[in-house]
Amino acid sequence: MSIRTPLIAGNWKMNKTASEGAELARAIAASVGIESAVQVVICPPFTALASVSTAVEGTHLAIGAQNMHDKVNGAFTGEISAAMLRNLHVTHVILGHSERRSLFGEDDAFINRKVLAALEASLKPILCVGELLSEREAGTTQEVVRRQVEKGLAGVPAGKSDQVIIAYEPVWAIGTGKTATPAMAQEVHAFIRQLLTKQFGAEAAARIRILYGGSMKPDNADALLAEHDIDGGLIGGASLEAKSFVDLVRSAAKSLTR
Ligand code: PEP
Repeated sequence: MSIRTPLIAGNWKMNKTASEGAELARAIAASVGIESAVQVVICPPFTALASVSTAVEGTHLAIGAQNMHDKVNGAFTGEISAAMLRNLHVTHVILGHSERRSLFGEDDAFINRKVLAALEASLKPILCVGELLSEREAGTTQEVVRRQVEKGLAGVPAGKSDQVIIAYEPVWAIGTGKTATPAMAQEVHAFIRQLLTKQFGAEAAARIRILYGGSMKPDNADALLAEHDIDGGLIGGASLEAKSFVDLVRSAAKSLTR
């Protein structure tokens, strides 16, 4: 049995107003119940963090943000700091999502500064990594993932490695309905764990959760979550409805009994 608690995180992206978000959060919380062997994190847009935070008070759900800036405060129009997130009871933050990398020009160095700032503020970073279709076809998946993991986690103190979560999200599988096969995903997850072992040592690396993301749905989750190094999922589309999201939480719970 794995020493890692499975984690299912929902990335709502730019969906749900504050009131819609609170409603969805309440529906998810009601189905998950107050106890679950799975850690459940929902990541609404910034504008829904306050209402969702209130809606999930006293439940099993934790709140994540989808991004943050690395600076503590100052003249950064439109940006949000770690302290602002903490003040809304946010515990996790998605960093380096492929949409941030490709649409908003975020590079590994900027993402690394955010990872370090999140840890400094006691937020758990969910660092997203993954190759483009052209990179997979060119046979450079490992090279790309190695660069993103090594640069993204540069300078993370060994004592804080257990706060880090990695999400392997092949970009060609995000929102496309194409999923990596369980074997393809496991191969990259195992490779990421090797990289983590090199940086933090085997014992620490064995404790770090590596989530899979990319069109994970109730009908493909069981097979993905059965893989040894797949410790949960970062879910986009299927996190926008309570039923499909909670079905994924149940799949993750089931994976513990196998
Ligand atoms: C994501 O954007 O993190 C994601 C995994 O999206 P989807 O589940 O819709 O592919």
